[in-house]
Amino acid sequence: MTDIMLEARGLTIGYGGKLVVRDVDLTVRRGEIACLIGANGAGKTTILRGLSGLLKLRAGSVRLNGEEIANRSAHAIAARGMAHAPEGRQIFAAMSVADNLRAGAYLAPSAAEIGRRRDAALTRFPRLKERLTQQAGLLSGGEQQMLAIARALMADPKLLLLDEPSMGLAPLMVEEIFSILAALKSEGRTILLVEQNANAALALSDQAYVIEAGRISLEGPARDLIDHDGVSAAYLGG
Ligand code: ATP
Repeated sequence: MTDIMLEARGLTIGYGGKLVVRDVDLTVRRGEIACLIGANGAGKTTILRGLSGLLKLRAGSVRLNGEEIANRSAHAIAARGMAHAPEGRQIFAAMSVADNLRAGAYLAPSAAEIGRRRDAALTRFPRLKERLTQQAGLLSGGEQQMLAIARALMADPKLLLLDEPSMGLAPLMVEEIFSILAALKSEGRTILLVEQNANAALALSDQAYVIEAGRISLEGPARDLIDHDGVSAAYLGG
């Protein structure tokens, strides 16, 4: 067993003729949270989509728990333990909350295991328990975000990718989402987080990467980046 859960080297990703991520190296250690911060359009979402197999890599290698997964299908990567809660939540709006959760566990080995994960999800997200039979599209934005995280956790992933979990939410709900992330961290989950809310993301994370125009401009322990003058001026309102 290695203590490195994710090791990406030379990630290069684009759309059509345009490269938007160039030569990015990322490491996420087991049991830690790493975050990607940076301006809109810097390429953070594209990096997550490349890692989880939703976009093809132009170049680079990705090792998950020691196994090379670069350019495997999204399904194969999910089966190896990566779950991706995408930007904009992308829950199945016409389906019930319960069916969304079940969909997240489509690779689970048994019905008993699905039940165990569902119980854990509903203990963690009591609001979802009250709304199990409701259509997911009728949930509030914060509840939909909880469902997106809960659905990803139903895969019992080795690595959880979270894209902007606080986006568009009211301040109290942002706090609630970050306290859920802190609880996941204290339980030993390994997470790669993309966040606009750089203050909260850096406070929560172990390692941080600043992405500018598709490249890493700065990286280090998150607590060091909080004190970094350039990061503070550009992203922390300091
Ligand atoms: P945001 O916080 O706004 O989502 P981001 O850092 O996640 O920003 P990306 O969404 O990865 O950035 O976008 C990186 C660049 O790729 C941007 O210039 C964007 O316009 C471009 N891009 C994103 N999706 C596509 C697409 N489907 N086709 C073409 N270009 C795209």
